[in-house]
Amino acid sequence: MSVNPKKLHKALAGIVGGANVFTDPPTNLVYAKDVMPYDLEEHNIPYAVVRPAGSAEIGEVLKYANQCELPVHIHGSGTSLVGLARPKAKGIVLDTARLQEIEIFPERGYFEAGAGVHLAKLRKALAPHKALLPIFPGSELVATIGGSVAVNTSAHAVDAALGKPGDYVLGLEAVLPTGEVIQTGTHSLRKPAGVEATKLLVGSEGLLGVITKLRMRLVPAPHTANLVAYYRRTEDILRTVMAMYGQGLNPPMFFEYLDEESARIGFEAVGLHQPRGAVAMMSLHAEGPAGCREKAARFLEFLRQGPALEAHIVEGAAEWDQVWSSRAEAGNYVYRRGSTFGSEVTPRVDKLEEAFQETRAFILNLESYPSPQFISFGHIGAPTIHGYAFIPTKDIPSEVKKAITLEVREKSEAINVKYGGCGGEWGLTAQRASFLRLRYGQAYYQMLVNIKKALDPKNILNRGNLEGLL
Ligand SMILES: Cc1cc2nc3c(=O)[nH]c(=O)nc-3n(C[C@H](O)[C@H](O)[C@H](O)COP(=O)(O)OP(=O)(O)OC[C@H]3O[C@@H](n4cnc5c(N)ncnc54)[C@H](O)[C@@H]3O)c2cc1C
Repeated sequence: MSVNPKKLHKALAGIVGGANVFTDPPTNLVYAKDVMPYDLEEHNIPYAVVRPAGSAEIGEVLKYANQCELPVHIHGSGTSLVGLARPKAKGIVLDTARLQEIEIFPERGYFEAGAGVHLAKLRKALAPHKALLPIFPGSELVATIGGSVAVNTSAHAVDAALGKPGDYVLGLEAVLPTGEVIQTGTHSLRKPAGVEATKLLVGSEGLLGVITKLRMRLVPAPHTANLVAYYRRTEDILRTVMAMYGQGLNPPMFFEYLDEESARIGFEAVGLHQPRGAVAMMSLHAEGPAGCREKAARFLEFLRQGPALEAHIVEGAAEWDQVWSSRAEAGNYVYRRGSTFGSEVTPRVDKLEEAFQETRAFILNLESYPSPQFISFGHIGAPTIHGYAFIPTKDIPSEVKKAITLEVREKSEAINVKYGGCGGEWGLTAQRASFLRLRYGQAYYQMLVNIKKALDPKNILNRGNLEGLL
């Protein structure tokens, strides 16, 4: 359809106010770009960006979009790493940045937050109440609570220890794709059983509605103790995780690893001595300091019985900050210093080692690009393996970058199908449509398409993601 930019600007300004509509090319470009390595195309760049003040305005924007059959892409902070943040169909980007309220109700055992609140701001607001925000992406300074719950990613948190963010959501306010505002869930701490819409919206990645406000349980922040362990090879860390689950130990709330190469990069970046191989870092949690010390001592004993070259409890905050930052620095390196193609492999826990070896093998032998570097790190206790094909230049034709993206996607999907994984983070629908068909069959995929169609008959919200477009 043809869009008259002036008319569009006027109509949107009538809903959200002129100061909250942008149709200038630089702003449109900023909202189209994400960290995916291939170039933007015309259909990714929106006609307009809007910042509505609340659910009523969002409802009006969506009603207008339905009338004009214009796609609307929801934007939290756009930090998603694997294509979710890039609009796939030219239309309107709806930014949740103005949904900023935070209300904490200790006497009711929950807090409420607007979808656009940044995780770090929310964590700070919860700190005086000694409450934990159970979501830990490296992007927490800018990632929004709405985006994180829409993806349902816990990031660093080990699912078996802390669960997913959605497990803490008691209810929410959302705007349906056709513009109606709904409230879901409960104000009680007793979560609803049975059919209930909160569960449908959590993790729906903006396909079924715009989450505008969340009500989440206040969880007492635990005490933590940190450990670091050094290994000759990454495989030794994988065996340690398999043994941890195999022996029925309580998993730590964080259990991260850096393979040999990322440990070298990360440790150099933070000024630590080069490790002799791969590194694992863990945070254990317990109610009080004594329980925590006891848990850490037992976990250290377990680590020392395994193949670790050395393992110790980190006593000082400075040492932990350095070790923990090395993990973020390894991530910064791969995303900033070249072209990076990430995979997410979440195998059955007893198949970690095979899955890791197969991930490494396919990345080192890509058909679409000769001999990239293999780098891996991730939330191994969860268990998640992120294997990256890293090419130390950005100067590669966009078609080649797309071909590598698709090959990495297809081959990691095959490993997840083989070893029973399905993707525990990152928000993958845009990348996962083919996987959903492969793993669960056409009937399953069609069920999701039907749900989407029932709620969004004109396919307004986040068009292209469920279709698996780039
Ligand atoms: C340095 C770094 C580290 C990261 N680490 C991790 C990690 O460890 N694990 C991990 O999983 N991710 C990680 N991420 C990715 C990202 O930070 C998370 O996925 C985050 O949860 C997304 O938040 P956002 O506000 O940027 O959402 P966006 O990227 O803006 O949106 C995510 C998806 O949700 C939709 N959406 C956004 N807001 C709403 C809403 N209010 N209602 C409905 N739908 C909505 C969007 O349309 C999109 O489909 C990392 C990113 C960076 C840059």
